[in-house]
Amino acid sequence: MNKSIVDILYLESLRESKPTLFTDNLIAPIGELEGSKRERLFQALDALAEQPSRVSPTLTQLPSTQLPNSAPYGSVSCESKDCTLCMGCVAVCPTRALHHDGDSPSLNFIEQDCIQCGMCEKACPENALTLNPRFNWDKEARQSVQTLHQEKAAECIRCHKPFAPQSMITMLQDKLRGHSQFSNEQAINRIAMCEDCRVIDVFESMAEDPTEQLKY
Ligand code: SF4
Ligand code: SF4
Repeated sequence: MNKSIVDILYLESLRESKPTLFTDNLIAPIGELEGSKRERLFQALDALAEQPSRVSPTLTQLPSTQLPNSAPYGSVSCESKDCTLCMGCVAVCPTRALHHDGDSPSLNFIEQDCIQCGMCEKACPENALTLNPRFNWDKEARQSVQTLHQEKAAECIRCHKPFAPQSMITMLQDKLRGHSQFSNEQAINRIAMCEDCRVIDVFESMAEDPTEQLKY
């Protein structure tokens, strides 16, 4: 293991407590480390975890090690019952640790990419997210895609094309009911239509009663 790797490990360990220095040779079975500083750190820690007696007899036998709030490693959990899959958290996540696959309404997460910046937690209008700073020693789990929340796409009430999560439609209908622009049931129902049908429906109702648009 070369000096730059030892330096990284040393600096990271200073965040926690007085470091333990090893004076004997460390022969980690990984060859040259590659990638960004963060990627090299994960490779080095995974290599050390495979030699638990070198680090600590018990540390790497734990599934994960809890870290302080400022640590840039950890997981995010989502309270499924509160998540509307609005994707507000995905929009602000700087590392794409939170993402969606584009095929179905779902919120996905890769722990290794999460830097615990907290932007997702602040952006969530439903307070559905919680950060958990930790180092997950299970490399496979840390690198795999977890689905934090998933829903079947609701169908447009007019053309029956799947288009949006049902929980988001229900949330918008509840929040907008009573607003001046959504004062009748027809306007509320449009929220449950896909974007094409919504436009068609607006023009049809204007053709039926041209004076309706003057009321807004
Ligand atoms: S966790 Fe919050 S911000 Fe993210 S999709 Fe769910 S409701 Fe939206
Ligand atoms: S804490 Fe930051 S990096 Fe991690 S998922 Fe949230 S926004 Fe992304």
